[in-house]
Amino acid sequence: MAGSAIQRRLSAAGFSNFVTRSHAELDLTQQAAVDAFFAAEKPEIVFLAAGRVGGIKANNNFRAEFIYQNLMIEANVIHSAWKHGVQRLLFLGSSCIYPRDCPQPIHEDYLLTGPLEQTNESYAVAKILGVKLCENYHRQYGAQFIAVMPSNLYGPNDSYDLENCHVLPALICKAHAAKMSGASELVVWGSGLPRREFLFVEDMADACVHLMESNIESGLFNVGMGSDLPISELAELIMEVVGYNGRIVYDHSQPDGTPRKLLNINRLKGLGWTAQTQLREGIALTYKDFLSRTDHL
Ligand code: GDP
Repeated sequence: MAGSAIQRRLSAAGFSNFVTRSHAELDLTQQAAVDAFFAAEKPEIVFLAAGRVGGIKANNNFRAEFIYQNLMIEANVIHSAWKHGVQRLLFLGSSCIYPRDCPQPIHEDYLLTGPLEQTNESYAVAKILGVKLCENYHRQYGAQFIAVMPSNLYGPNDSYDLENCHVLPALICKAHAAKMSGASELVVWGSGLPRREFLFVEDMADACVHLMESNIESGLFNVGMGSDLPISELAELIMEVVGYNGRIVYDHSQPDGTPRKLLNINRLKGLGWTAQTQLREGIALTYKDFLSRTDHL
């Protein structure tokens, strides 16, 4: 989802000389294969959007894969990028890298000031490693590697695998299924009280390109909308967009995760960037994309 959005945004800006590989073509957890790729292709600019990702349940259930695969991908790509002279690299992380109970909105400087949320600790630790790789290759070698931490992303090309996906696509999928079957209830995990900040993936891609076109050489940058809402309100909004008006039932056997992770986006704002897509509009566009995949109808 993130990588394809960045490529669309770059194409729209007139870039065309892309070097991409699918997972089947290049397994980024394999050091020798990654190094051979960089040696052969010598890319100038790298957007590292690849990673093992998923929602609260996937993070909790696949803790070993989430930490191992993400740290291997980051270590291999960032080291080979430096070794083969990449001019600029952007590493994509996640807002879950910050301490669970830190003040809100979360400033970049709060990194490593407290314990992490347990449900996604292994993913967060791996992503912190990526931030530190970028920072330290810059400090020692002057590599122009920057790190971008988006809030919860959603949009075209998302995953709708209900066990493993994130809340926004899950609720689109569930609301649509309930509407089609005439079900009276929509099941929402947890209490509905946790607050989340959602960012349309096209806006995230725009922020990444904005940063790469700036003269910034290093650092950590939060990217988000600047506002959040409780999961209960997200569920109501999705039901409105989908056109389903059943009853919401909360499944308290499922985890809530972190209570809140609203990002402070002043650093990026100071560079002249703000998100353009309001949540309702973004959900409508995402629902349209969901419907275009005929197997969901
Ligand atoms: P998180 O931001 O890392 O916690 O990841 P998620 O996007 O998976 O979950 C965000 C919040 O939405 C959590 O409090 C979940 O319990 C809640 N939630 C409610 N219904 C669902 C659902 O159907 N799927 C998922 N993944 N989360 C849900």
